[in-house]
Parts: sequence; C-alpha cells; structure tokens
Amino acid sequence: MNIILLGPPGAGKGTQAKRLETKYGLKQISTGDMLRAEVASGTAIGLKAKAIMESGQYVSDPVIVSMIEERIARPDCSHGFILDGFPRTEPQAEALDEMLSKRALTLNAVILLDVSEAQLLERIACRTAEDGTRRDDDDPDVVRSRLNVYHKQTAPILPYYERAQCLYRVNGMQAADAVGEAIDTILVGKGKI
Ligand code: ADP
Repeated sequence: MNIILLGPPGAGKGTQAKRLETKYGLKQISTGDMLRAEVASGTAIGLKAKAIMESGQYVSDPVIVSMIEERIARPDCSHGFILDGFPRTEPQAEALDEMLSKRALTLNAVILLDVSEAQLLERIACRTAEDGTRRDDDDPDVVRSRLNVYHKQTAPILPYYERAQCLYRVNGMQAADAVGEAIDTILVGKGKI
C-alpha cells in the first residue's frame, strides 16, 4: 500500500505517518527529515538546501525527485510507503506518477489533512515551545512564508489527485487519535487493510 499525506505545514502529517508506519509496517518517507539529515551531515545537497529551507521556500524539483526515486527503490519500501512532504509541486506529482508506473506500483490513497490557518500558526508556536529544539524554519515569519508557498505551489496539486479520484479529505483539527481513525476508515473502505 502506497499513500501520500498532504497538508500544510503543521497539519500533523508527521504524526500520522509515524502511526501508519507502526500500525501497518509501511515506510515513512519524509522529504523534510531527509533534507534536514543532508544539512546536518553537510552534504552538497544539504549545503544548497539549508538557506532555501530557512527562508521557507522549496528546494528544486530535480533534487527532490531524485532523492525520492532513490529512496523508494530501497528494500525497506517493498511493503509500501507513506510519502510525507512529497509531492509538493505539480512537476513533483507528475514525476511521482512516472516513477510509480516504471516500477509497476500504484498509489492507493492521497490523504489531505485539512486544518485552518489559525490553528496551524498556533500549533507550530506550541511545537516550538514544547520541543525546545526549535527548527530554524519555525520562526513566525518563516512559518507565514511556508504557508504562502503551500497555498501557491502545493494546494494546486489537489485537483490533480481529485481528477485521479484518489483524494480523501480528513478533518485535521480533531485530536490525533481521531484523525488516525478517520484515516483507517478510508483505508478499510479501499479494502487495503
Ligand atoms: P513542513 O512542516 O513545512 O511540512 P517539512 O519538514 O516537510 O516541513 O519540510 C521543511 C522544508 O524542507 C520545506 O519548507 C522545504 O524547504 C523543504 N522541502 C521538504 N519537502 C520538499 C519538497 N517535496 N519539495 C521542495 N522542498 C521541500
């Protein structure tokens, strides 16, 4: 089973991806985490990505696409994966379709976590306060820029998946457990679990 989790920054994609990973043995693939690992180890990609991420902009499509292509080919993805933070642009969505058809894989569901803007800002502020480990891009101005970039570049891919009839919307403003149950219901309905 291969799933995409979509939604604005702070919508809870990471939390739900972790839950699906544990519950169904799917592999979470988070482009944000992968990029942060590249930055931490000072690779060529990391050096380029750092400033872009700190400003809330998107890293270029070819870099992200080749990172994902290499990642889904690894054996730990053979039972399926949850894409968290990818695709984020139309070219990425198209590249993913090509990658999947090349490997004879299907996309079983695209789940959108719907959350209001006010709640997102509040959540990201809380995450910063609770963690103590503030992400460089959790600065309030950068969060606004990440939300703008999401509306401009990522929201337009929703009709792409709507047309493919695989888009499911979940109310992301419920408690995390309730969001998880709503996702389970979708997957059960698809006969996937
Ligand atoms: P968010 O909380 O915004 O969902 P992520 O951890 O997924 O954060 O991503 C952090 C940053 O990494 C993004 O703001 C962007 O700069 C970069 N990034 C992550 N995934 C992608 C992608 N698919 N395409 C381009 N840039 C990406």
